[in-house]
Amino acid sequence: MPNQNDGTKKGLEDLGVAVTPRSMPNAPVEKIAGRKLKPSTLMMGHGYDPALSEGSLKPPIFLTSTFAFENAAAGKRHFEGITGKRPGGSDGLVYSRFNGPNQEIFEDRLSIWDEAEDALVFSSGMSAIATVLLANVSQGDVVVHSGPLYAATETLINKILGRFGVTFLDFPAGASPGKVAELLEQAKAQAAENGGKVAIIYLESPANPTNALVDIEGVYGARNQVFENDAAAPPIAIDNTFLGPLWQQPLKHGADIVIYSLTKYVGGHSDLVAGGVLGSKAYMDQVRAIRNTIGTICDPNTAWMLLRSLETLELRMTRAGENAAKVCAFLRDHPKVEGLGYLGFITDESQKDIYDRHCSGAGSTFSLFIKGGEAEGFAFLDALRIAKLAVSLGGTETLASLPAAMTHLSVPDERRAALGITDNLIRISIGVEDPDDLIADFEQALEAV
Ligand SMILES: *Cc1c(COP(=O)(O)O)cnc(C)c1O
Repeated sequence: MPNQNDGTKKGLEDLGVAVTPRSMPNAPVEKIAGRKLKPSTLMMGHGYDPALSEGSLKPPIFLTSTFAFENAAAGKRHFEGITGKRPGGSDGLVYSRFNGPNQEIFEDRLSIWDEAEDALVFSSGMSAIATVLLANVSQGDVVVHSGPLYAATETLINKILGRFGVTFLDFPAGASPGKVAELLEQAKAQAAENGGKVAIIYLESPANPTNALVDIEGVYGARNQVFENDAAAPPIAIDNTFLGPLWQQPLKHGADIVIYSLTKYVGGHSDLVAGGVLGSKAYMDQVRAIRNTIGTICDPNTAWMLLRSLETLELRMTRAGENAAKVCAFLRDHPKVEGLGYLGFITDESQKDIYDRHCSGAGSTFSLFIKGGEAEGFAFLDALRIAKLAVSLGGTETLASLPAAMTHLSVPDERRAALGITDNLIRISIGVEDPDDLIADFEQALEAV
């Protein structure tokens, strides 16, 4: 029985084993009596059959760099897939820079939340973003993006791709579809001048740290209007780290490619770094080819940890979202608080309209504007006892930081002011602790200011 421990349903089928509930009582199920199972149920079994791994209820971690072929012809067949001679990628396991059982099970499960056709896992959010860009961008091309973006993404697009003759144009996150269409026309002209194309429309919503939302449907409409009947229309990619996959599913609103820093809510325990990319098989095949070449896939151990995280994803995100709503309700009326950048309290009409169309929850990451400046912000942060002082977000524990003095310290003053990143802006990511304990912590920390 070659490759008997490959651990996937597909592996079983490769061996000619019929996967039926009758013969495999613990085999993965997708439906019961015609009822399609919900993501939170599927996270416990989808894509893994214990019968393939000595009955091990949890998938073993496959610590191997390479996989034995069933026979020589199978080896050739696999490489035809990997090299693109045959479409659809490898139909088996070959070498751990390309794929592995833990990564494949995770990819199958991750794709369920966004109802994506295909998914790919990466060694970090940034390696996921870099691989998507490399798959789409060539010399002379123009990248159109919403702003602000995660700082490293801006560096990658504006500085690093710039070294290869790629230019960019950006629009503010809240821009109207009309304004986006205007910018796309401008990008088209610029691309023609540079001998390239408009390579990709890259979005991040909500934007960090302002929480401004991008109208994904609006961007989709603008793209289709400007690139009507154009086979080379640029794909719309979106970094969905802040609200996904529970509270925003951009593929349903016109995005082609969804990107995650899985380090945040999906990993969810501040104990790993990873990234994910989802979309149609056609787009993912292009991204997979680059990942195969440069090796930006995550390791099996991280994939296993991510699998464990997915089992509690809905529980954790739901609790964190409820906690944030309670904490924000407390903070909103506090005399030492100047304001809140929390999606649950949007006042701007067009932003509220986008929120209602795109989002099913306000998340648990928000901005607290404390009365005063950096001194008051620091006094508040230093007085916190439950919340930890750290950057990042989406973990089980509550974190707080002051972007102007930390993550955004290197951003020039004028740009910081334009983005609304003031000295009294405190970034908070709420975890899954008891909400009343969190409120007590914020209350005593505000008293200390
Ligand atoms: C953290 C983050 C990234 C980068 O992800 P890493 O896993 O740290 O590489 C990208 N985008 C957003 C919105 C993030 O919060």
